[in-house]
Amino acid sequence: MLACRIHSKEDLRVEPAETPSPGPGEVLLKLGAGGICGSDLHYYFEGRNGSFVVREPLIPGHEASAVVAAIGSGVTRVKVGDKVAVSPSHACGRCDYCRDGREQLCVNMRFLGSASLFPHVQGMFREYFVMGERQCYAVSGDVSLGELAFAEPLAVGLHAVNRGGELMGKSVLITGAGTIGCVTVMAARLAGAAKVTVSDILDRPLEQAKRVGADAVLHAQRDAEALAKPQFDITYEVSGSFAALKSCVAAVKRGGVVVQVGTLPHEPLPFVVNEIMAKELDLRGAFRWGIEFDWAVRYLSTRRVDVRPLLSGQYPLQDAVAAFVAAADKTKTTKVQLVCA
Ligand SMILES: [Zn+2]
Ligand SMILES: [Zn+2]
Repeated sequence: MLACRIHSKEDLRVEPAETPSPGPGEVLLKLGAGGICGSDLHYYFEGRNGSFVVREPLIPGHEASAVVAAIGSGVTRVKVGDKVAVSPSHACGRCDYCRDGREQLCVNMRFLGSASLFPHVQGMFREYFVMGERQCYAVSGDVSLGELAFAEPLAVGLHAVNRGGELMGKSVLITGAGTIGCVTVMAARLAGAAKVTVSDILDRPLEQAKRVGADAVLHAQRDAEALAKPQFDITYEVSGSFAALKSCVAAVKRGGVVVQVGTLPHEPLPFVVNEIMAKELDLRGAFRWGIEFDWAVRYLSTRRVDVRPLLSGQYPLQDAVAAFVAAADKTKTTKVQLVCA
């Protein structure tokens, strides 16, 4: 079998690897589709993602669907041939945060395809991999493996919306119109937002956001004046840009909520806190997701949320480098996936 490994900055190799076999309670999965995420791009183009640095070859990939190839003893949740969404979150289930229902804050978290721990926790950009059955969510119906691989990013959008609080009747701003921005649009509409506005620095992503339900779009430069006017109840910063965070703080109404979803560059930021004080803002973080992954799988499998417009292209695993380059070009693509032939 083949596995895609990032050895260091801009050194990604698709190499032969040993096919693993499932132990008791484990499942052997064949990759269906794996979405390339912003964090995967950071690992490839910079050799790091925020404070997580690649220190040994890392198999990226945490947004994946798969087909069950074999099951170990005692597995009851899935059977051979099942189409599954794979949860990349291995929370311990025992710490105070897990027990409190916030597994994304787990102190013993092992998140797939991440260099946050050493040795790194290897991800899913490989032909075959083994998961605990708890990580596998089988679905029926005609939802494609490509759509199912959106469970993770959709869960991020659902969780961001949950962190922002009640949306019925509210006006919201989402800064960033990539995959996470667009799924946050979908999540905000599900939650009852009255008006969803999206900003970005590029025109193509803004068009994309409109296609998936944004009521209005603002160009970060051309509409800078509108972005400086306090007019939104809740703002979500998903682009990972400090300029966008400043827009979120400026454009939110007094007493409003600002949710930070994106990862900003790993450096100290000059930040004027007085606006948070004087406007009585709530500045909240949204990190990954908890139960929202289960919800995302359900919304996708019934197409209550239809992510098909977000899928820009699929590449065979062997062409991972070309896929990463395509995924980084936001003037042309939203979500690019790797697939197994
Ligand atoms: Zn991701
Ligand atoms: Zn835990």
